[in-house]
Amino acid sequence: MIKKLACRMCLSNNIVMNGCTSGGRQKYHCKDCGCYRTLKTTQYYDEERKEEILKTYKERASLRGIRRIYGVSMPSVLRWLKKKSQA
Ligand SMILES: [Zn+2]
Repeated sequence: MIKKLACRMCLSNNIVMNGCTSGGRQKYHCKDCGCYRTLKTTQYYDEERKEEILKTYKERASLRGIRRIYGVSMPSVLRWLKKKSQA
């Protein structure tokens, strides 16, 4: 899975994941500006991930199951579904 993440300081994509904080937040190290930061959002889903979640939802899982598996909130999934059906 390709993550489209960017450094919060310089917006470079040249970042590497650097473990998690004790609070479970993902940390990264930016190779361009050299900073160590936590990712701003812990609830980040790229398109690929959304597709995967929606596919899982259609195949068998309930929204409750989705939440358990992916930790994504129900309103988010419903929003994606709505967006998809309009496209
Ligand atoms: Zn940077």
